[in-house]
Amino acid sequence: MPVTYDSLRYPTTFMNESHHEWQQQMRKFVDREIMPNLQTWEAKGDIPEALFKKAADIGLLGVCYPEEFGGMSEGIDTFHKVILTEELSRASTGIAAALGVHNIALPLVVNFGSEKMKQEVATPVLAGKKFIALGVTEPSGGSDVANLKTTAKDAGDHYVVNGSKTFITGGLRANWYVTAVRTGGDGMGGVSVLLIPADLEGVSSTSIGMKQGWHASQTASIYFDNVKVPKENIIGQENRGFIAIMTNFNQERIALTAMALSMSRASIEEAAEWALNRETFGKKLASHQVIRHKFADMIRQLNASYAYMDCCVQQVDAGTAKTADIALLKVQATLTAENICRECLQILGGAGFIQGSVTERAYREVRVLAIGGGSEEIMRDLAGRELGF
Ligand SMILES: Cc1cc2nc3c(=O)[nH]c(=O)nc-3n(C[C@H](O)[C@H](O)[C@H](O)COP(=O)(O)OP(=O)(O)OC[C@H]3O[C@@H](n4cnc5c(N)ncnc54)[C@H](O)[C@@H]3O)c2cc1C
Repeated sequence: MPVTYDSLRYPTTFMNESHHEWQQQMRKFVDREIMPNLQTWEAKGDIPEALFKKAADIGLLGVCYPEEFGGMSEGIDTFHKVILTEELSRASTGIAAALGVHNIALPLVVNFGSEKMKQEVATPVLAGKKFIALGVTEPSGGSDVANLKTTAKDAGDHYVVNGSKTFITGGLRANWYVTAVRTGGDGMGGVSVLLIPADLEGVSSTSIGMKQGWHASQTASIYFDNVKVPKENIIGQENRGFIAIMTNFNQERIALTAMALSMSRASIEEAAEWALNRETFGKKLASHQVIRHKFADMIRQLNASYAYMDCCVQQVDAGTAKTADIALLKVQATLTAENICRECLQILGGAGFIQGSVTERAYREVRVLAIGGGSEEIMRDLAGRELGF
């Protein structure tokens, strides 16, 4: 039986006909609209804005959002979102991050924003006509969110915002920044979330420049210089933003897990095809025991990660998921992917070092998965504390 991307998915009983149909639909979209353009977009450093509209037209942007804003929620669950992320990540996790960036910002608006804000923002974002980004990380640090420095001073009917954010995905294109600010005293109890329109006076953005991977995703620094933000732009309650931001991270961590496992499958598929055909020392590469064992080990790690992910995703939909599990799942998946990308590139030899190879891209992209959405160290710490240590 050939080793393919599909054959490498550990069997799950959680997926039904609707999931399989959705997966086929996403596969066709990615093969048609993304795969042929990957290298051009990476060289350009961005994806075209038209891709958002095309993605919206087939429902890709609206998964798990209320129908009233153009989303899809009836009969839709987190597995649909995982499948979507996996299919995009089969091409590139950077493209998945660029096209799906609203998924780390918009849920805060939809779950905690005012009705007026939801109508104004959610509908055009899910239609692919306007864009939104999440601004939490600052130049002084991203892990210690409770100590963020950007201030929003009360000035009657508005706040005056000063400070800056960095590493913001989609930050150059965004019409709105969902921004973590300090409205109160020190620590987590002084953090709020504001919806800041990018066209307000005093808001500016610059690209952070070249990165190791995710070449087609915008990564920007955002500056706020005496920006007057209307009070009605607060998301949720004043000084209660920290918990909202932390809860929101759970979905991002599941997405990063799906990215890691999908890129692992794509790399194994490429390396397997190579190893089953290339001959060294008079026999197929895959027939050397050292190489055969590498494949067995990679598939062992992949299966364990998939089984863990399926359980966590099922618990998310049942409302029983623990933050500790999701944090540890992300660590498990990203460590798995790092090892798999390394081993696959090793099996490919020089061919894996050349641009155009699936594994070459995966190897460049894999590191950021252990940093973004809560780093590996912070995930272990968070889980350890929740587990009573
Ligand atoms: C490509 C890319 C896209 C991103 N997109 C976004 C985005 O859209 N929005 C956004 O807000 N942020 C975004 N980020 C930022 C990302 O979330 C942060 O990089 C991450 O949270 C880590 O923050 P930091 O880089 O400031 O590292 P720091 O917080 O300075 O940490 C540096 C290192 O020290 C470790 N460390 C820190 N504290 C401890 C501790 N107590 N114990 C042990 N180790 C510790 C960390 O794990 C890390 O390894 C993005 C980052 C990248 C690279």
